[in-house]
Amino acid sequence: MKLYAQSTIRELRDRYGFRFSKSLGQNFLTDKNIIDEIIAGSEIAPGDLVIEIGPGIGVITREAAKIAHKVIAIEIDSNLIPILGETLGDLENVEIINQDVLKSQINDLIAQEEFQGRVRVIGNLPYYITTPIIMKLLEERVRADSITVMMQKEVADRLKAGPGTKDFGAISLMVQYFAEVREIVRVPKAVFVPQPKVDSAVLRLDVRKEKPVEVKDEEFLFKVIKAGFGQRRKTLANALSTLDGYDKSAITAALAEAGIDPTRRGETLSLEEFARLSDVLCER
Ligand code: SAM
Repeated sequence: MKLYAQSTIRELRDRYGFRFSKSLGQNFLTDKNIIDEIIAGSEIAPGDLVIEIGPGIGVITREAAKIAHKVIAIEIDSNLIPILGETLGDLENVEIINQDVLKSQINDLIAQEEFQGRVRVIGNLPYYITTPIIMKLLEERVRADSITVMMQKEVADRLKAGPGTKDFGAISLMVQYFAEVREIVRVPKAVFVPQPKVDSAVLRLDVRKEKPVEVKDEEFLFKVIKAGFGQRRKTLANALSTLDGYDKSAITAALAEAGIDPTRRGETLSLEEFARLSDVLCER
C-alpha cells in the first residue's frame, strides 16, 4: 500500500470518517519524490533521533523511520491518532505524541530518550503557525542539529532573504541569527490534498553551534531588529525612535557612534550592523 497515494488518503478518510481541518493547516503530501527530498535534505542517518512536527497520516514518518533510530512525531489532531495507529502500527521505532507542538517541551522529550546522537527535526508544517514553530525551536534552543521543514513559499523566501532584498525582514535576521538557512526544493501546490492556494518550499536550517555575532544583550538585539523593520518606509533614525526609552537624538547619536548612516532603512542593514548598533544603544 502506498501511504502517500491520493487513493489511500481518501480511503482512510472515508473509513475513519476523518475530515480535513483547514484551521489545523492539513494539506497532506501525495508525492513520494518530495517525501524523499525531505528525508535526503535532512540527511537522516541510521542512529539519528528524528522529531517530526505534524505527521498527518504518517507519510514522512514512515520513510524517516526506515532509516532513523527512532521517530517521535507530535500531532495535535486526536482524530488522526487512530489512523496513525494503523498506518505506522507495524513500526517499533515510532512514537506518536498527541500534543500541540507549541506547548511541547521538546528538549524534555529528547532528554527522556537519553540519546547522545544527532537529532533532526523534520515536518510539513501547518502553515498557520510556521513562524511561531520555527522561532520556538530556535529560541528554546531545541537540541537539534538541523530543522528541515516545508512551508509556504512566501515564508521560505522571507526566512532565507538577505539584506537589501524585498523579502528581507526582521524574521530573516532572527532566524539567520540562530541558523544557516538554505532551500532544498520548491514544491508545487498540486502535490497536496486538499490542495492549498500557494506553492511551498522545503528549507533546511542548520542550527549554529556558535553565534554569528556576539552582543551584550540578545533580547535587546531582537527588539532593535524589530523596531528597525517596524516601519519599512521610514529611515532608521525614525523607525528606531519607537524603541522604549530612546528619543530621536539618542538614536541619531548611537547611529553615528556605530558608523551607520541614519538615513538608511532597516532592510539594508546586515546582522553585524544591527549587532553593533544594539551594543551601542545598550550602553546608553
Ligand atoms: N506530515 C503530513 C504530510 O506531509 O502529509 C501532514 C502535514 S499537514 C501540512 C500539517 C500537520 O500538522 C497536520 O497533520 C496537522 O493536524 C498538524 N498540526 C497542526 N497544528 C499543529 C500543532 N499545533 N501541533 C502539532 N501538530 C499540528
